[in-house]
Amino acid sequence: NEVLLEVKSLKKYFPIKKGIFSKTVAHVKAVDGVDFYVKNGETLGLVGESGCGKSTTGRVILRLLEATEGTVIFQGKDIMTLGKEELQEMRRNMQIIFQDPYASLNPRMTVGDIIGEALDIHGVAKGRKREEKILELLNEVGLRPQHIRRYPHEFSGGQRQRIGIARALALYPRFIVCDEPVSALDVSIQAQIINLMEELQEKFGLTYLFIAHDLSVVKHISDRVAVMYLGKIVELADKDELYESPLHPYTCALLSAIPIPDPELKRQRILLEGDVPSPVDPPRGCRFHTRCREARDICREKDPEFKDVGDGHFVACHLR
Ligand code: SF4
Ligand code: MG
Repeated sequence: NEVLLEVKSLKKYFPIKKGIFSKTVAHVKAVDGVDFYVKNGETLGLVGESGCGKSTTGRVILRLLEATEGTVIFQGKDIMTLGKEELQEMRRNMQIIFQDPYASLNPRMTVGDIIGEALDIHGVAKGRKREEKILELLNEVGLRPQHIRRYPHEFSGGQRQRIGIARALALYPRFIVCDEPVSALDVSIQAQIINLMEELQEKFGLTYLFIAHDLSVVKHISDRVAVMYLGKIVELADKDELYESPLHPYTCALLSAIPIPDPELKRQRILLEGDVPSPVDPPRGCRFHTRCREARDICREKDPEFKDVGDGHFVACHLR
């Protein structure tokens, strides 16, 4: 499988004032040196606790936020250097589905206009053609033709996320950043939406970067999974490998929190102690050392390299 998207040494720092009267500027190091690629047609799950930088990574890739440093190659082009028009053209192939279907749909626009907006921006279809396209998209996501003239508030959370998916799908893009698309939904609805996304992926050959805060959400849909902690990816591997043979102590802790259906496979629950440190002053050395039960001297001094330990299983830990 060819590589569709490649992210290299990506950083995103947000400047903040240190105090109300202080002129000293500090930085929230939301994304602090991230490398990965996404293969054509696959789903890469990106998982971590809130504030670890996963959503920021998704937004920087699409240039909804400008990177502080780093490169993003999409379909062979460095999208960080694209001008406004080239970027607009590129956006036909790179879309996003947002976490909160309540906040991300304009309440004053009809469903038809929400979905049709992308068609308008890119001059894809007008008049009857436009309407036909929108009806086709409604059908693809399991909504009805009469929904075209309704407003977002008339729908349930799950249906609203279907509208968000239809909007992202409108230009039949190659790549979609799915930013926690089911986190705001009832557990009973989550599987329906994930199934729909898998069907659409199959049908239209989509590639997903699927962001979630929980390893159980991405287990089914992902081909590979990356685990993020405090602005960095600490482990990345094929799905089965990651769930069966996790190497990083943080991944092990996250996995131990997932209930497993098979009672034979008893897993010891590993409780993470302490809070996630501030991304303004991340710990020296390995960022996870303040919460790691295996930490030793070198961990407090040296940042572990993110290395391939075999078959595309990457881990950043001195002991692995
Ligand atoms: Fe723990 Fe050290 Fe590995 Fe970091 S490098 S995860 S502190 S053992
Ligand atoms: Mg988020």
